[in-house]
Amino acid sequence: MKTEPSCIFCKIVAGQIPADIVHRDEQVIVFKDINPKAPVHLLIVPHEHVDSLFTVETQHDNLMAHIMRLLPTLAKQLGLDGFRTIINTGKSGGQEVFHLHVHLLGGWKNSPQLF
Ligand code: ADP
Repeated sequence: MKTEPSCIFCKIVAGQIPADIVHRDEQVIVFKDINPKAPVHLLIVPHEHVDSLFTVETQHDNLMAHIMRLLPTLAKQLGLDGFRTIINTGKSGGQEVFHLHVHLLGGWKNSPQLF
C-alpha cells in the first residue's frame, strides 16, 4: 500500500499525529475536520495514499465504492436526515491536502447555502 511520509493524512492514518477518529475499517479512517464548516464535518480518508481523484485508477474501484456506501451509513449513525459531500480536486479545485478525501457535511437547521 502506498504511503507518503510527509503527508499529514498518512500520519493520521499511521497514528503519528492525533485526530478525532469516529470510524476505522480495513480501507478508510473517518475523523472530524479540524476546521469544521458545518455542525457535522467529517473527512473520509483512505489508508492508502492517493493524491486526488486525478490519480484514482481501476485498482481503487472497490475503495471508491466502499466510500460511497459508507457515507449514508455514517450519516444515518449520526442521525442526519440529509448531508452534503465534497471532493476538492487539484489546487484550482480548492484541494489543500493532497491525499484523497471526501468531506461529509451536515447538521444544519435549514438547507445549506450551495455555492
Ligand atoms: P479545503 O481546505 O479547501 O477544504 P481540502 O479539500 O484539501 O481543502 O480539505 C482539507 C481539509 O482538511 C480542510 O477542511 C482542513 O480543515 C482539514 N484538515 C487539515 N488538517 C487537519 C487535521 N490535522 N485534522 C483534521 N482535519 C484537518
